Amino acid sequence: MALPIQIHTLIVEDSEEDTELLLRELQKGGYDPIHERVETRESLQAALDNRRWDIIFSDYTMPQFKGTEALALLRERGNDTPFLFVSGTIGEDRAVAAMKAGADDYIIKGNLKRLIPAVNRELREAEVRRERKKAEEALQESNQTLEAVVQSSPLAIIVIDPAGNVRMWNPAAEQILGWSAREVLGRPIPIRPEETKKENRDREAEQEVKRFVNLERRYKRKDGVLIDTSISTSLLCNNNGEISGVMWIIADITERKRAEATIKQMAYYDTLTALPNRTLLHDRLQQAIPAAADENKSVGLLLLDLDRFREINDTLGHPRGDALLQQIGPRLHAVLQPSDTIARLGGDEFAVMLPRIDSEQAALAAGRLLKALEKPFLIEGIPIVIEASIGMALSPEHGENPDSLIQHADIAMYVAKENKKGVALYSRKVDKHSPRRLALLGELRDAIENNHLFLVYQPKIHLWTRRVIGVEALVRWQHPQYGVIPPDQFITIAERSGLIQPLTLWVVKTALAQCKIWQREGKAPNVAVNLSARNLEDPELPDQIARLLEASGVGSASLNLEITESALMVNPAQAMETLTRLNNMEIQLSIDDFGTGYSSLGYLKKLPVHQIKIDKSFVKEMATDEEDAIIVRSTIELTHNLGLKVVAEGVESEEVLEKLAALDCDAAQGYHISRPLPPSELNAWFTETAPAKGWNL
Ligand code: C2E
Ligand code: CA
Ligand code: CA
Repeated sequence: MALPIQIHTLIVEDSEEDTELLLRELQKGGYDPIHERVETRESLQAALDNRRWDIIFSDYTMPQFKGTEALALLRERGNDTPFLFVSGTIGEDRAVAAMKAGADDYIIKGNLKRLIPAVNRELREAEVRRERKKAEEALQESNQTLEAVVQSSPLAIIVIDPAGNVRMWNPAAEQILGWSAREVLGRPIPIRPEETKKENRDREAEQEVKRFVNLERRYKRKDGVLIDTSISTSLLCNNNGEISGVMWIIADITERKRAEATIKQMAYYDTLTALPNRTLLHDRLQQAIPAAADENKSVGLLLLDLDRFREINDTLGHPRGDALLQQIGPRLHAVLQPSDTIARLGGDEFAVMLPRIDSEQAALAAGRLLKALEKPFLIEGIPIVIEASIGMALSPEHGENPDSLIQHADIAMYVAKENKKGVALYSRKVDKHSPRRLALLGELRDAIENNHLFLVYQPKIHLWTRRVIGVEALVRWQHPQYGVIPPDQFITIAERSGLIQPLTLWVVKTALAQCKIWQREGKAPNVAVNLSARNLEDPELPDQIARLLEASGVGSASLNLEITESALMVNPAQAMETLTRLNNMEIQLSIDDFGTGYSSLGYLKKLPVHQIKIDKSFVKEMATDEEDAIIVRSTIELTHNLGLKVVAEGVESEEVLEKLAALDCDAAQGYHISRPLPPSELNAWFTETAPAKGWNL
């Protein structure tokens, strides 16, 4: 048998006897009533204050109190505890009145059979009422939360009914779109998407976004301002599953779009020149290559690299170098079509994409570009002359994708630079050479370590005494695959990769060892080694050279270091410091390639150097070129005025040699005297060729 159910029972009754009767009946019905009996208004009130009751029974008439009053009191308090009259017969009218007053049931004392079913039912219903109330409270709370969310949301929340009229318009909607709720509620939605022109790329990006948000659209606000939005829509259904409206949630993404545009600008354009950058060039090539192919045309890619820009940059300072780079784009634009793309790939490297051309037109364009750069650039009033080299590659012949086209134009550009031709069209023949440039970098370190480098020596003769005064050491690379590689093809690589330090030390060491051998044989008292700009930036160089001198046993005055004029200008203060230290060690110093740089005489005057070498470009043709002859003559005079000796390099004929002697030049070097030779061959020159020509050791 089930355990009796405890119920807190309040009994409004004057008769103890009747109370007992009632309790017994409840117990019989399976209840365990915990009861209290009251018979006055006050005690009823106290009992109600005291606790929550499961059920209340009341007599109809009592000497001090009326059942209907008790009921009224209860309902006044908002208390919906089941209330049942248990009384003697009171007549139909009264019973009806009692029920109307809000009693839950009426049971006649003489017929308590009905009591238990009534109690069961009332308790059950009270339970249901309690549950429902709880649910209603929860729902109300949830509605309040929802309302708060809608009100405070930064997203515009709009509901439109099936007729197309606005049913909800939250404060964010007012703010984002400009219309107040009052203006739009019950009316058709006031916004229409604006037509936007989009590029392909944008459309792709949009599709990407669509997976997450339904739409990205541009709308006109009430005040006419255009805003970018992201909208997600969802259908609202009522309980019957019928569509009751559409909800739009709108985010204002104008700021984000603006930021994206800025980022795009930064991602696709060079900040210094505002020209398209490598990424954008790549994209444009990607589109242009198949488009040109459809018309049986080519895309021409021209890579343009300024010659010796670093030197200009270092001499004039970076801000002026930047100013010069900024002038390049407009110059090039002026000679190109609007559909051509000019990009800056970084540093002093530019690219021009010609979308629909043939090789002849590309060559013409390249010529126009070089011509456009010929006129001096004015930087703060100073005219600067620059030269450039252009490498060309055409699709599909030289590459069917952006990467191979860029790579091949790059190779052609290096060819143009090396041949000093200005322009070179890519060809597979040079390619056998040119990826070599890249491969060489990896192999150069090994070459230095494994003695794959060797030195050739070119003698210098004194013009008055006709004596051999020294030799210049020139490096070569004996490559296992490519044969002998000249220094022009790997010195730059060494400079860029930091390998110039070990390379230079190797040359100094080897040249000193050879010098020692010759000195023992009574030949060539002086050996010259070339330094690069990077060497001058190395504060350890003088000490390292001092150690090599000491180890070789060659006196420091027998070592000559040649530094090009342009290398000195990379960092003049640093160069001055290094040269001073080398000079203090009593090493001979020469300025190489004199006449090709931008150094001022005032600066050269202060340098602790002993001689200058007139660049071969002036010497080679001085016998036939009057202008060159004038330059050579004035250089010789000027140098002597500074108290320095002059060496002319690039002497290729007897005629030039005689002219130089007449101009009072001190020394000469060149193919006419001797090509640079390995020691064994030079020994033969020392003992046979030179004496035969009257040049003595
Ligand atoms: P450079 O110091 O001006 O060396 C003279 C270059 O002119 C040498 O070219 C030499 O072979 C060439 N030459 C000599 N006589 C004549 C002539 O009568 N006519 C013509 N047309 N050319 C002549 P090379 O050996 O190819 O060297 C080229 C450059 O490479 C050198 O120019 C020098 O700047 C650099 N270099 C060579 N060896 C070294 C080195 O050990 N270290 C560094 N840092 N640079 C080096
Ligand atoms: Ca030299
Ligand atoms: Ca030189």
